[in-house]
Formats: sequence, structure tokens, C-alpha cells
Amino acid sequence: MYLRRLELQGFKTFAQKTALEFHPQSKARRGLTGIVGPNGSGKSNIADAIRWVMGEQSMKLLRGKKGEDVIFSGSAKKARSGFAEVSLTLVNDDKPEIELSEIVVTRRLYRDGKSEYEVNRQAAKHGEIVLLLAQAGLGQRTYSVIGQGMVDAVLVASPSERKEFFDEAAGLRPFQLKRHQAMNKLETSKQNLSQAEALLREIGPRLSTLERQMKRLLERSSLEKERGELERKYYGGSWHDIWGNLTKVQTDVERARASESKLSSEAKALEAELAAMEKAVPPSKEFDNLRKSLDDIADQRASLREQQAKLEARVEIARAKGDTAWAALPLSKIIESVEESQKKLNELWKVLESAKPDFARAKSLVGDLRARHESLVSKLQQPAPEPASKTDPKIAKDLDEVAKQMGELVKRAASIQAELDGWSKKEEGKRAHLFETQRKLNQKRTEAQQAERKANESAVELARWETRRDAFLVELRQHQPDWEKTLNTLAQEVGKVDGVEGLLPRLAKVRSQLEWIGSIDPETEKEHGEAKTRFDFLSTQTADLKGAIAGLETVIEELDETIRTRSETAFHAMDREFGKFFKLLFGGGEAKLLQLEAEPEEDEEGNLIERDDRTTGRQEVGGIEIQATPPGKRLKNIALLSGGERALTSIALICSIMATNPSPFVVLDEVDAALDEANSKKFADILSQLSDKTQFVVVTHNRATMQQASVLYGVTLTDDGTSQLLSVKLEDVLK
Ligand code: ATP
Repeated sequence: MYLRRLELQGFKTFAQKTALEFHPQSKARRGLTGIVGPNGSGKSNIADAIRWVMGEQSMKLLRGKKGEDVIFSGSAKKARSGFAEVSLTLVNDDKPEIELSEIVVTRRLYRDGKSEYEVNRQAAKHGEIVLLLAQAGLGQRTYSVIGQGMVDAVLVASPSERKEFFDEAAGLRPFQLKRHQAMNKLETSKQNLSQAEALLREIGPRLSTLERQMKRLLERSSLEKERGELERKYYGGSWHDIWGNLTKVQTDVERARASESKLSSEAKALEAELAAMEKAVPPSKEFDNLRKSLDDIADQRASLREQQAKLEARVEIARAKGDTAWAALPLSKIIESVEESQKKLNELWKVLESAKPDFARAKSLVGDLRARHESLVSKLQQPAPEPASKTDPKIAKDLDEVAKQMGELVKRAASIQAELDGWSKKEEGKRAHLFETQRKLNQKRTEAQQAERKANESAVELARWETRRDAFLVELRQHQPDWEKTLNTLAQEVGKVDGVEGLLPRLAKVRSQLEWIGSIDPETEKEHGEAKTRFDFLSTQTADLKGAIAGLETVIEELDETIRTRSETAFHAMDREFGKFFKLLFGGGEAKLLQLEAEPEEDEEGNLIERDDRTTGRQEVGGIEIQATPPGKRLKNIALLSGGERALTSIALICSIMATNPSPFVVLDEVDAALDEANSKKFADILSQLSDKTQFVVVTHNRATMQQASVLYGVTLTDDGTSQLLSVKLEDVLK
């Protein structure tokens, strides 16, 4: 890496566009460019330009007070510039880790304060420029450009400031920058983490509440589902039952009523038939007449028998008188037999007259009567023996007459009796039909009563199911009023449910659970979703941040270790080189560097904190002290050195730095001003040695130094107050 070109425009005294070309002699010899000219011509302004374009922010180091002090302020003859612009061209021939082969860094500042940085004509940020240059091995401030007064500054600086200078010189700057960036990121990440954790703490309880509500919501929806299924089953099954039974019982009632009505009308028909029958069978006049005739005959026969008895008595008397007797059948026996028949007839009459005639008895009586009648007739028809003595003809005639009349009466009685028997037979048939009809009527009535009872029972059953239906509908309307219209379809779908009433306890429990859970804000789900997303996002972010923090802490630890190791190595090398250059410049003596432990820091509560290395626990280096003993002297404190000794010590120090950690280029602004001729010569030799690795741009009035330059730029101040550049090749100077 070397410096090829510097372009200035509007920067301090370089109002016009001015370019400086730097030509390294070879890769093995980076060479030295001298900048010479009278006091106040603008030589140091070139060093300032290099420092400025490399991103210097300190106006003090740039020898100004405010930013615009770097812009050409004009002169009596020339107007001021509107902006200052400096471009620095570097050629990368030895740092493959930097991908660019040529780096053109540009910085521009306008009077209105607008500032621009560019890398290869592309806008860039200040930090990017600083990091890029640090990677190229160029210290922004203290080391690559060593200005007037800075030589001594390293001696008068505090140990900690000196350490900073050494760190940069040791090439720790890129690591420190990275560490700084990592620390910033770590700080930001920690802040973000604490914010995220604070938000999580804030959201957490709300999310828990919402999660509980969501759980209830899920529980509710599961219960609602169960309630729906239970209700469907319960109402469907119940209606299937009620509806089925209502239909069946209704049919039963209708059937029973129809049967009852049929049986009743049949009974009525029988009643009518019976009434007609009863009307058609009044107590027979004919029968009475016959009975009367028979009675009359009986009376007549009784009278005839009396007459006959009287006559027979007269005959008997006469027989007694005439010993004639007729004993075929005594009259008393006949009378007795007729009276007996009369009794039987009377009994028969009573039997027939009774409300419930005993026809068997009547039949038996009629049979008995007939037998008696036939026996009597046959006995009576036996020819009477001729009286032993002649009977009075008149009596005989009377007796014959009586017998004849008697015979006629018997005939008539038999005829009437036969007629009576025929009538009885006829009557008996009629009665039997009547009784049969009555029996049928009774049976029909019984059946009709049974049908009525059945109808009544069914009606009661129907009323029971109707009550159940009404109660069911009241309950249904309370819970599912819309289902009433489609109950039949539901019942068909659900079908018969065994133990449907058994569903009620669970249904009641589910309903009461739902009531207990109550209604849930429908916004809850949305709010829960949002809170959950936010919580998850923050959790992921927290985890990411924790991971990033852990990663950054590791990076920082590694950087600390790198910085510590490099610092240690560089320190010892620098210490060695410092001693060597000191001896060279002083022609003897001794000088060395000392590491000082860091002062303990105070925490927020005022407690002291030991500053030790994070990884190793070693005490952190807080500063660097310089000990220098010129030859023949015993002093060690640099404060006691003379002005020249101080300058030599500083130069030895700067040279040790340049030797230990060669920078691609170093601008030295009148570093050698305080040296006498002999020492100037020594310094020039040292620069010559070091220029194999470092390109030098040296502002000097020193001839010995000028002699080491391959190119000399002469700077003059024109009468319009601007600097002008004149390039002089060394060969020409020598000529
Ligand atoms: P010496 O050899 O004495 O150190 P030098 O050649 O290094 O001198 P510089 O310090 O580079 O000179 O130049 C200083 C000059 O630049 C001063 O005269 C100062 O007035 C002038 N100058 C500084 N800033 C500006 C500016 N913004 N506009 C115009 N002139 C400026």
C-alpha cells in the first residue's frame, strides 16, 4: 500500500486545484518525498490536508477552530472558496484482504457545513473511511501524520494518552474500532433487550389473562358443541318418543271410540229388536181363553162329577139296596184324579205367569197332566159292568148323560190342552229367541262398555302424552325456539334414544357450566392473537438479542485477547526498537518503555473496580511510561531532559514505532526542526533505513533530510495569498 496522489482544491491556502504525485522507487523501497518552502507558504497545510481527508475531526489538530476554517478564506486579491475538497489516492499492492487495488478517498466540505465522504467516487460514511484506512494500516490521527509539536507531545502526554498513541502505532486500531463497534452494538443490543424484556413483562400478564380467557373460550365452544349434541339427541329422542306415542295413543283412542260406537249401535239395534219382540209377545188372549175354557171345563166337570157322585150315590144306595155295585173306578177316585190334575194345572198356570217362567217345570207339569188325563180317560172309557140289579133308568140315563157330558168335557179339555201345549211350544221358541237376543244385547253392552273403558283409558293416556308434549314444548321454546318447526325431521334423524331422560342431568350440568363461564368478548380472540404474535415476536427478538449479545461478548473477548496479545508483542518490540534508536541518536545511553497498571475505576456507588482483562484476569494496562537516560547521565525522568534531548528521545520513539509497525506512509511535518546538523544526518539515515517499508512525506527545512528525498515539492505563497507547488526531481537538485 502506498500513496500515489494528493489533490487539493479550496483547502486552506490551496485555493486552486493542486495535485501532488508520490512516486515510490520500488516495492522494496517506498522512498521519501520532501516538501520544502519558506515559512508560511503552506507546507503544513499539505499535512493538514492528508490528515483531514483521512477523517480527522479535531479542529485543534487541523489548526483551526471550526470546520469551515479548512476552506480557503480568500485574500485581498482572491475570492474565498465555496468548498474544500481533498482526494487521496492509495495503491494497494500488498493487502489482498482489501479488495480494492486503488483507493481514492475524498472529503468535501461546503461553507454551509455540508460534508461528504467518498471512496472511489462513491458516497461513504466517516466510519467506513476510518475503518478502511485502519485496515490499510493508516492511523487516522497520531501516527500517520506527525505534525509540528506532536513530536514533543508524545513525551508530555499522560501515560494513558501515550498508550493510545502506542496502540494505534501497534496496529491495534482496527481491532479497537471493531471492539468499539461491537461494544456499541452490545450496548444497543442490551438496551433493546431490556426494552424487549420490559415489553414482555408488560405483555406477559395481559397475555396470561387473555390465554385464560381463550381457554375458557375453547372450553365454552367445546361445551356449546356438547350442549348442541345433547340437545339434539335429547329433543330429537324425546320428540320421537312423544310424537310416536301421541300418534299411537290417538289411533288407540279413535279405534276404541269407533269400536265403542259400533258396539253401542249394535246394542241399540238389539235393544230395538228386543223391544219389538217384547211388544210382539203380549200375554195371549187366546191362551187366556183356552185357560178359561179349561177352567170352565174343569168347573163343568166338577159340577158333572158332583152330579155324577150324587147319581152314583143314589146308585150305590140303590145297589146297596139292590146289592148291585159298579166298582170299576170309584167316582171318588175320578174326582181325586181330576182334582189332582186341577192342582197341577194351577201350578202350571203359576209357572207360566211368573216373570221368569220355568219352562222345564212347565213342561214336566204339562207331561204329568197329559199322563193323568190319558190314564183317567182310558180308565173312564172302560165299560162299566152291568149292574147286578136294575138301576133306576132315570138315574142311569142321568148317569149316562153325565158320563156323556163328562166324556165330551174330557175330550174338549184334551183338545184345549193339546192346543195349550201347541201354544206353549210356540211361546217357548219365541221366548228362547228373546232370551238369546237379550243375552246378545247384554254381551254387546259389556263389549261396548269395555270399548268405552279402553277409549277412556287411551284418552287418559293421550292426555298424559299431551301434557308431556306441552311441557316439552315449553322447555324447547326456552332453549331452542327455532327447532319447533323442524321437530319431526329432527326426531326422524335422531330416531329412538334409549334412556333419553338420562341425558338431562348432563345437559343441565353443561348448561350451568356455560352459564358460569358466561359470555366472552368476541374481540378476545383477536386481541389474544395480536398479543401472542407480539409476545412471540418479542420472545424471538429477546432470544435473538441474547444470542447476539453472547456472540458480541465472545467477539469482544476474542478482540480483547487479540488486542492484548498484539499489544504485548508490539510493546516489547517497540521497547527494544526504542532502546536501539535512542542509543543510535544519542550515541549511547539507555531508554525503555514501562507498562502501568490501569487505575481502578469507580462504579455508580463509588466502589473501586479492578480493571482486569476479561479472559485472563490479568491486570489491564492503563498507560505507558517512558524512561530515558542519555549517555553519561543518571537521570531517568524525561521531564528533566533538555529541549534537544527531548526532541531526540521523541524521534527515537517515533522511529521505534515506525520500525515496529510500518505504516504504508508517514507524513512528518518538521519533526527534525530541533535537531542539530549531526543529529539531522542521523535522522535522515534512519528515515532512509525505514523507507524500505514506509513511504515518507517529509516537510522539512533540513538539508540532510532533503537529500534523502527522491522528489521535492517546493511550496511558495503567491501574492494572491494562495500556495503554489513546484516539483523538483532530486537529480535536478543535485545537478
Ligand atoms: P512554516 O515553515 O513556518 O511552518 P508553512 O509553510 O508550514 O510555514 P503553513 O502553516 O502551512 O506554512 O501555512 C500557514 C498559512 O496558511 C498561514 O499564513 C495561514 O494564514 C494560511 N491559512 C491557513 N488557513 C487558511 C485559510 N483557510 N485560508 C487562507 N489562508 C489560510
